[in-house]
Amino acid sequence: MSARRIDVAVIGATGVVGQRFVRRLARHPHFRLVQIAASERSAGKMYGEACAWRLDGESFAGLGREQLLPCTPQAVTAPVVFSALDTGPALEIEPQLAAAGAIVFSNASAFRMEADVPLLVPEVNPEHLALLQAQRAARAWKGGIITNPNCTTTVLVMALKPLDVAFGVEAVHMVSMQAVSGAGYPGVASLDILGNVVPHIRGEELKVEAETVKLLGTLRGAAVVPLAAAVSASCHRVPVVEGHTLAVSVRLKGNPSPAAVAMALAEWTPEPQRLGLTSAPPRALVLHAADDRPQPRLDVEADAGMSVHVGRIRPCALLGIKMCVLGHNTERGAAGGSLLNAELAMAYGFIG
Ligand code: NAP
Repeated sequence: MSARRIDVAVIGATGVVGQRFVRRLARHPHFRLVQIAASERSAGKMYGEACAWRLDGESFAGLGREQLLPCTPQAVTAPVVFSALDTGPALEIEPQLAAAGAIVFSNASAFRMEADVPLLVPEVNPEHLALLQAQRAARAWKGGIITNPNCTTTVLVMALKPLDVAFGVEAVHMVSMQAVSGAGYPGVASLDILGNVVPHIRGEELKVEAETVKLLGTLRGAAVVPLAAAVSASCHRVPVVEGHTLAVSVRLKGNPSPAAVAMALAEWTPEPQRLGLTSAPPRALVLHAADDRPQPRLDVEADAGMSVHVGRIRPCALLGIKMCVLGHNTERGAAGGSLLNAELAMAYGFIG
């Protein structure tokens, strides 16, 4: 084990997102997974006993005999914590760990919209990481909380950011078709989702609308001024295992052509790719020319689920441009995205 690696913990390690953290961290060059934790129901049990492992590859990423800890500051002492907790427990536990000195990379919605909490996608708004300093000062925390957005929002903003840079985004209408893994494990009952579409995901549309304009907003001093764009989201659960597909219409300043939009997306080389961060995919966006792509089954696992896919860029009679956008909800939209946040924080000198 390299002495240069930083000790990290995963809390919520037994869940859908937690398992992906554990698998990604099993062989990470900069982070060493030293603690795993879950609820009081699981604490004290071996990981292989408490966790319903649902990923391919080595079961429990080789940690089946590791003991799960409770999610308390007394037990979880690693300086960097990846949190895959649900929002309720995150509200209580993440500040305790941050106060005790940990930098917590959270997947929960609990703190995303707090003014002093970075809501981060490294390709989209790396400069927002600077909010961490204001957060520590305001809350007298030695550590801090850095969040990643809701999985649908992550996929959406990856496609919107280069268009905002090139043209300016004025209005967005998005209809999502979201995978069942987005609901955690065991998630949606099979009788509710097989052969069906559920046109409601609790709280999701408001999250997409609010988080998108924060992510695309401008950092001014110790706060983010949200992008002045109208965002309307309609979210649906569909019988797909992994991958959220979004039908996106967008109004851009200057009403550019589909070819100009495709070029702006294709030429985008954001910060993680420039820095060569470990979890950054070679191409942040993959553009598809075929009329029937991207598709979850064919495309979502490419680049370990970290690329976002865009296809069917065409004129929209209402807003000017429409396109299909696809991304991996539990990798790019959760564990992989959060790990990339930590790699960016390390590259910027916030940890290590
Ligand atoms: P999940 O499968 O239901 O897992 C939840 C985890 O939290 C489990 O490890 C569970 O441990 C633990 N937990 C529950 N109650 C707890 C408590 N009171 N104290 C400590 N730990 C507790 O959920 P998930 O889908 O992985 O989602 C985790 C978080 O990521 C959520 O905030 C979710 O909104 C967010 N997120 C999920 C996705 C996605 O696509 N799934 C995408 C982006 C963000 P036990 O096994 O011991 O109960």
